[in-house]
Amino acid sequence: MSDIYDCIIVGAGPAGLAAALYTARDRMKTLILEKLMPGGQINNTDRIENYPGIERIDGPGLIEQMQKQVQNFGAEIKNSSEVTGLEKLKDGKIVVICDEDKFTTRAVILTPGSDYRKLGIPGEEEFRQAGAGVSYCGTCDAPFFKGKQVVAVGGGNTAVQEALHLTKFAEKVTMIHRRDEFRAAKVLVEELLAKANEPNSNLIIKYSTIATAIQGEGKVQSVRLKNVKTNKEEDYPCDGVFIFIGMVPNTGFLKGFVELTDNGFIKCDCAYLRTSVPGVFVAGDCRIGAAMQLATAVGDGVVAAMMLKQYFRDPKWWDEPVSDLLGPGGW
Ligand SMILES: Cc1cc2nc3c(=O)[nH]c(=O)nc-3n(C[C@H](O)[C@H](O)[C@H](O)COP(=O)(O)OP(=O)(O)OC[C@H]3O[C@@H](n4cnc5c(N)ncnc54)[C@H](O)[C@@H]3O)c2cc1C
Repeated sequence: MSDIYDCIIVGAGPAGLAAALYTARDRMKTLILEKLMPGGQINNTDRIENYPGIERIDGPGLIEQMQKQVQNFGAEIKNSSEVTGLEKLKDGKIVVICDEDKFTTRAVILTPGSDYRKLGIPGEEEFRQAGAGVSYCGTCDAPFFKGKQVVAVGGGNTAVQEALHLTKFAEKVTMIHRRDEFRAAKVLVEELLAKANEPNSNLIIKYSTIATAIQGEGKVQSVRLKNVKTNKEEDYPCDGVFIFIGMVPNTGFLKGFVELTDNGFIKCDCAYLRTSVPGVFVAGDCRIGAAMQLATAVGDGVVAAMMLKQYFRDPKWWDEPVSDLLGPGGW
């Protein structure tokens, strides 16, 4: 059997495993290179309630099934294999470089994911375990804070949207922002301020305020707040702290190979997930415009795998603009 893979997938998170399910089931010789163990970010939660068709499951349980499924279809997974670089050959093939190995492939799907940006304050790591009170995803975790008091940290679009989402569940949401005005889109800020100004609103905004420590015994009980203008500090009681200060994509190893945005997300056309390098697709949380959800990462993986077949059929398709040429079933 040839040593050349049809498809190498970088990262065995939900996007990578979903892509591998499709390529391997299509009888393509598929290799997934994973820096650690399969699973990615979703391994860190024991409560998923928004994956369609599954009422409730824990991250590791879902990943175990996804991994089994792709391996049953013949995909090969190499754990502890961090990809450190890629190289495009003159004949169009791509070399994927790990610390101790090199692999050659006809196409690549990049799925290295992202990490939540951390505040880096005492207590953040300690209370990060599911149920302890620190969260980075309101869409994922807001329902677990029904009737509770939470603090939301941040000032961008995601922070504002997520804080508004939290107000539907929590008894009280205190949003803290280090500046004295929000940098989110005007329309979102207007919605946020309107909510805060409602009579008996459950949304409180504290400007020029930062969190300096998260405190509690076994679970979050308060957060230490500091007003950056007056330097006044207070212990603010709460059951949870939601941190919405951005994402950091795991794309350092791709600099100079594919085009990245200023903050490191992989540029692509969002319909077919083609990157700036022919034969290299992207899927999941590491790409521009990602919705940063399990279901969308999985959906991306499937799209990239489907589009890869179109590329094999006609490599020139890579340079075609997104169009309606691929009608339903066209792939
Ligand atoms: C605590 C927590 C709870 C969450 N809960 C929910 C939820 O309830 N519902 C929901 O929809 N979403 C939830 N999410 C978000 C969801 O987990 C992500 O949107 C999803 O995992 C993104 O999948 P991905 O495959 O794109 O990336 P990731 O999950 O980040 O996977 C990327 C993989 O690539 C590997 N990798 C990175 N760099 C390299 C490299 N150079 N070489 C090889 N491998 C590499 C990583 O080790 C990782 O395994 C949660 C996230 C967290 C952190």
